[in-house]
Amino acid sequence: MTASPIELLPPQPVLRVLQSPGKPRKEQLTKSDHLIVILPEKPANSLWQQVPEGQTLIKLTKKRKLTGQIAHTRMKNQACTGITLSCLSESGKGNKTPGSFELLTHAGSLSADALKDHPSSVTIMVLGFVPDIEDKIVQAMVLALCAHNFAMPTFKSKPEKQSPLKTLHISGTTKRIELTRTLAEADGLNLARWLTALPPNKLDAANYRKVLGMLAKQYNWQVEFLDEKKLHRAGAGAFLAVAQGNATKDAGIMHLHYQPKKARKGKAPLALVGKGIIFDTGGTNLKPFKGMLDMHTDMAGSAVAVATLVTLSKLQIPFAIDCWLAITENRIGNKAYKSRDIVTASNGINIEVIHTDAEGRMALADTLALAGKQKPKTIIDFATLTGSCVAALTDRYSGVLTNRSELNSLLIDNGRNCGERVWPFPMDKDFDNELKSNVADVLQCAAAGGGDHIQAARFLQRFVPDKTTWIHMDLSAATRTGGLGQVPTEITGFGVRYATSLILDNLEQLNKAKA
Ligand SMILES: [Zn+2]
Repeated sequence: MTASPIELLPPQPVLRVLQSPGKPRKEQLTKSDHLIVILPEKPANSLWQQVPEGQTLIKLTKKRKLTGQIAHTRMKNQACTGITLSCLSESGKGNKTPGSFELLTHAGSLSADALKDHPSSVTIMVLGFVPDIEDKIVQAMVLALCAHNFAMPTFKSKPEKQSPLKTLHISGTTKRIELTRTLAEADGLNLARWLTALPPNKLDAANYRKVLGMLAKQYNWQVEFLDEKKLHRAGAGAFLAVAQGNATKDAGIMHLHYQPKKARKGKAPLALVGKGIIFDTGGTNLKPFKGMLDMHTDMAGSAVAVATLVTLSKLQIPFAIDCWLAITENRIGNKAYKSRDIVTASNGINIEVIHTDAEGRMALADTLALAGKQKPKTIIDFATLTGSCVAALTDRYSGVLTNRSELNSLLIDNGRNCGERVWPFPMDKDFDNELKSNVADVLQCAAAGGGDHIQAARFLQRFVPDKTTWIHMDLSAATRTGGLGQVPTEITGFGVRYATSLILDNLEQLNKAKA
C-alpha cells in the first residue's frame, strides 16, 4: 500500500514568535521553559545586571572560563528548566562576530542544548551587541531553533511523542528584528529536508507528482506534467533513456510556474531546475551496496528547487518563476539503457552513453533544454551530480559552475553571507576534449580521468542557451553525517537558503552578467 500524499508533506509548524525589545524584565524569565542568554565576550557588570540570575551566571562563566571563544554552558534554574549561556565575540567589544557559517553552527549547538528537555517555550535574550550584529545573531538562532525543532519523517508503528517548541520570545534587542524572510527560509529548508528523507517506495514518482500538485494548490502555481508520452513527442531522448528501465511509466518532467498577483503575465525571468532521481541503482552499471544504500536522496536537487519556490512564494516576490523537476528512477532490467547507446536529446544533440550511473546529466539535459526554450534570463539548477565534487570539496561545501565566470566571486560571497558555503570550478572549453565522441556529438561522460564534476557541467552547458546566465550547483553538501551549520540531520537541505539569497540579493547582477 502506498502512503497517502498528505502524509508525504510535513505537518505545518506552528511556532509563535513574540518580541519585546528593550531592557529585559525580570518576569520574562518565568514566562519561558528555557532561557538562552547571548552576551559579548567579557560582558560588563552593567550588562550582567540586566540578565536574570546574572550574578549566578557570572560565577559560572568565571569558573568555566567562558571567555575568548564562543562557548556556552547550561544551568538548572528554578523558574525554567535551564539557562543556556553563550559569550560570543572575537573582539570582546561585541561588534565582531564569527562568520555566518560559524554563527549558524554555534546557534545549532545552543539550540540542541535548549531543546534537550523539550521546552514548549524558549526565550532568547541578546544583550550588548550593536544592531547589525544582534540582528545576525537572532536570525541565526531562529534558523537553528526551526531546524532543530523540525521532526523528520518516521514510520514507526508507535510514534515517539513529539513535544515541539511552540513559542519563541526574543528579548533584550535594541529594536524589533524583521524575521519574515528568515522564517520563510526555515520552512523551505525543512521542506527540502523532509522530501529528501522520504523512503523511495513512499515518495515514488507517482506520489511525488501528487505532492507537487498539492504544493501547487497551496501556493497557487500553474502545473504542467510532461509525462513520458509528451516527452516522446518533445524528442526528450536523454531523459527517456534513463526512464526506460523503470517498472512503471510514472516518470516525467514537472513544470511549475509561480505568477505574482500584480505582475503582468509574461515569461519568467528565472528558472529553477532540479534533479529528481527517486532512487539511483546506478542502472546497468550497478552501484555496490554502500554506494547505493542512501540513493533515495538522489532527488535532493528537485527538493531544493521546489522548496526554494515555496520560500519565494511565501515571500510573494514580484516576478514570475518557472521550476522544472526531472523525476525518474534509475533502474536495472532488460529495458534499461546501457553503455554505447546513442540517444538524441530534445535540442537535437546526439549523446553517446558511457556510464549509466551518470544518469543525472541525462535527465537534466532535456530538462535544461525545455527550461531554456522559455528564454529565461537566469537558470539555476541543483543536482547531487558527481562523486568527484565531493572528493574535491568534501561534504562541507557544494560546488558551483557557471557559464558567466565573472560571477564566481559573487557566488562565493553569497555563500559566505548566508552560511551555505560554495566553491566555483573552472569551465574552460578545453575540458570538452575529454567528451569527444567518434560516433555522436558528445560523450555523456569521460570513461576515464578526473574532474567529472567539471565535465558534467561542460556537458550540461550544451543544453542551456548562450544568452541565459546559468548557475549549476553540484550538491556535494546535500548529505553530511552529523549535519551541517545549524542543521542537525544528515540530510542538510543545502541550497534552499543559498538560492534564496542569490535570488533576493543578487538577481540583478546575475541577469546582467555577460558570457
Ligand atoms: Zn547515478
